Amino acid sequence: MKIGGIQKTSLIDYPNKVCAVFFASGCNFRCPYCYNPKLVFNKTKLIDEKYINKFLEERKNYLDAILLSGGEITAKPDFIEFVRKIKKYGYLVGIETNGSNPDAIKKLIDNELVDFIAMDLKSDLETYYMAAGVKVEKEKIKKSVELIKDSDIDYEFRTTVVPGLFDEKTAIEIGELLKGSKRYVLQQFNNEEDMINKSFKRKKPYTVDKLKKFKKILENYIDEVKISGI
Ligand code: SF4
Repeated sequence: MKIGGIQKTSLIDYPNKVCAVFFASGCNFRCPYCYNPKLVFNKTKLIDEKYINKFLEERKNYLDAILLSGGEITAKPDFIEFVRKIKKYGYLVGIETNGSNPDAIKKLIDNELVDFIAMDLKSDLETYYMAAGVKVEKEKIKKSVELIKDSDIDYEFRTTVVPGLFDEKTAIEIGELLKGSKRYVLQQFNNEEDMINKSFKRKKPYTVDKLKKFKKILENYIDEVKISGI
């Protein structure tokens, strides 16, 4: 498995659990505002498999969970096998995904290999390609949403709220798509990070008031709507 980085401990990335975060190297999307260009373009040094095995063995008694983030973890051919290995150590497993691989998500859910899923919903389906930076198979995104919504596991959907890519209409369309979901997070855009498209650094994040307006729209469709990063 191509892991390009490990955050050894996190108290905030997996709900109510202490976890480590593994970052997969490489991604099939090119979101212009992506904060991890080095990972996306495979420019980080890969972590040795022996180190990963040792890490999993040594920390199994005081970490609750491993969160698999990216890059895009589900795009890796040995992804399911890797999750099975982590599970054997007794960890809870969470994934952060762009939802482009519903087959992998289904396999995880059907085989009880995942305990938490956070899916980044980039935009409404019509303008998805703009926020993802590539042509996207909308049916796959819809299928991932349905699989996650219909599962019994803990989950949330998230969108980074980028001016020019997200407005009131986007909020309504996303609300329709996620209708009946239990949790959705509006993530504030941060223009101080490194990004795939450097011109996005000139974009000014929305005001908190504006984010609250989006939240209000989305609360018509989703049980719990949160704002993060402010
Ligand atoms: S933000 Fe987009 S490009 Fe960056 S890792 Fe996530 S899905 Fe890939």
